Amino acid sequence: MVSIKTKEEIEKMKKAGHVNYLTHQYLKSLIKPGITTKYLNDEADKFIREHGGIPGFLNYEGFPASICASVNEEVVHGIPDDRVLKEGDIISLDIGVVIDGFHSDSAWTYPVGKVNAEKQRLMHHTEKALFIGLKEIHDGAHLYNIGARILEYCNKQKLGVVRELVGHGVGRDLHEDPDVPNYGKYNTGMILKEGMVIAVEPMITAGSRHICVLDNDWTIVTEDGRPSAHFEHTVVVTKDGYEILTGE
Ligand code: MG
Ligand code: MG
Repeated sequence: MVSIKTKEEIEKMKKAGHVNYLTHQYLKSLIKPGITTKYLNDEADKFIREHGGIPGFLNYEGFPASICASVNEEVVHGIPDDRVLKEGDIISLDIGVVIDGFHSDSAWTYPVGKVNAEKQRLMHHTEKALFIGLKEIHDGAHLYNIGARILEYCNKQKLGVVRELVGHGVGRDLHEDPDVPNYGKYNTGMILKEGMVIAVEPMITAGSRHICVLDNDWTIVTEDGRPSAHFEHTVVVTKDGYEILTGE
């Protein structure tokens, strides 16, 4: 069932979203060659708790860390560990924060030092695809218009759109109805209503869109080993558009 949030609930979600945003800004400032993904995880955990939140991913369905840190060909659900970041890597950080019982969910891909043209292009267009998808949102719009627009844009850029993983509703649970795919047909899917909160999160690949799961049963990687990027905001549907909850 898709829930409509009250004004009070949206205020709480804004708090969770804002701490999520601040955590991203803090981690972004730490990213450089030579640090480990575990270091970013531990700093995120501390930062979120210091700001009155709880890391939303820790123990979620058994996930063993406070954030997801996915490097290069890792699409999502990278488990932070002793891997050392190198100049030229890209790292997708996916962060969940819970405050007053409400979740926020936001992902961003960052360069480590100077990255090659393929990775720069991939990050640029994935971020653009997120905002192009978001533009479709308003009270009365069809849900699948978001994915239709993302797919159309990425096809034009000759980038792969991962199909097996999708965006979702957000609220008291991290993953609520509806599913928000990054593909679809225009003017299909449910009708969005003011007060619905969804996470839109294109996962885009430089090569083939096909993926596989590593032996840790969590981490998703591209089948061809080429890089992948992930940008995600949690937003609330408004009468005329949307408002980003995981922002400033
Ligand atoms: Mg996420
Ligand atoms: Mg999500």
